Amino acid sequence: MDIKQNICPKCGGPSEGGLCSSCRAAELEWITCDDRVLCTHCPTCGSLKQQNTWTDCKLEKDKLIDEVALSAVHIHEDVRSLSVSLETRDISPNRTSVNVGVKAKLYGVPVEHKCRVLIVWSKEQCDRCSRLSGGYYEGTIQLRADGRKPDDYEKDRANAIAHSAEDGLQETGERLSFITETRETKDGLDIIISSHNIGDIISRNIVKELGGKVTRHPKLVGEKKGIPVYRITYLVRLPKYQKGDVFEENGSYYEIRGTDSGGVKYFDLQDSSTKTTRNEPCGRLIGNVKDSEFAFVNYTEGNTAGILDPKTFENKECLTYPWLEIKEGSTIRFLRDYDNERIIFVG
Ligand SMILES: [Zn+2]
Ligand SMILES: [Zn+2]
Repeated sequence: MDIKQNICPKCGGPSEGGLCSSCRAAELEWITCDDRVLCTHCPTCGSLKQQNTWTDCKLEKDKLIDEVALSAVHIHEDVRSLSVSLETRDISPNRTSVNVGVKAKLYGVPVEHKCRVLIVWSKEQCDRCSRLSGGYYEGTIQLRADGRKPDDYEKDRANAIAHSAEDGLQETGERLSFITETRETKDGLDIIISSHNIGDIISRNIVKELGGKVTRHPKLVGEKKGIPVYRITYLVRLPKYQKGDVFEENGSYYEIRGTDSGGVKYFDLQDSSTKTTRNEPCGRLIGNVKDSEFAFVNYTEGNTAGILDPKTFENKECLTYPWLEIKEGSTIRFLRDYDNERIIFVG
């Protein structure tokens, strides 16, 4: 048995060959701490700048201080059972001092280290806030409608769709896709956007929900590092009819049940059948079921019903449809066709 193999050449203690664990632990520089760490953040939105890249910061101030302090501490890969304590103190508005205490095990030997990290906070307007405040834009979504103006409901929905697309993109880290501005115009709504991607998504989602068509109109506005720069106008043209619109064609009445890129679905009020057409119906608009009035049914007789007109309080005899079950004493929804002086039941 060679006794040298079991003796540490440094301390003479027992060893499994070479230095003993205590001497190996004592020799190794297992931890280093940076004295200072610079943290650049945006005073407007709190984003953080790291290696010239901005990212949204989802941490509370306390957690952020801990993260930044820990980023200044570098630990050797052989270290095990690590526990770290942090004591922070704001020493001035732009300086935070952090006392770092580290306990760990190295080759089975307990080790300890203390250091102090100074966090220097620096403010800088981030890429997104500087674009936002400068009114930066790469396109405009123009919400319009065919032969009419988009109504409040459609404008509200378009706005909500736009903002939810913005939330989604921001969430996935596409920080430079945002809504620069929205403004009402005499023909509808303009949504000014900062990237083509957000423009594509918003215009597509509006049409998916409200129907109609999108056409893109790019315009060359310059060149950046040899690459042509375009601004795109997305013209979203909502269909002539909206869901719930009732129109008259050749003496018959129809209610629009849905409009999307696949066509227009409408309900035949005469026989209660549902039809789909690829083309826009071309009848005369009476109104929308959401604006319908309610009337009390006085009596029914064959294919007529007597209702109490809520405007004049007079009895009005009106034609009903065979499929529509009208009961005496109930209320019924209707629209007025002023041109034909008719009451149109909409069920
Ligand atoms: Zn030793
Ligand atoms: Zn910012």
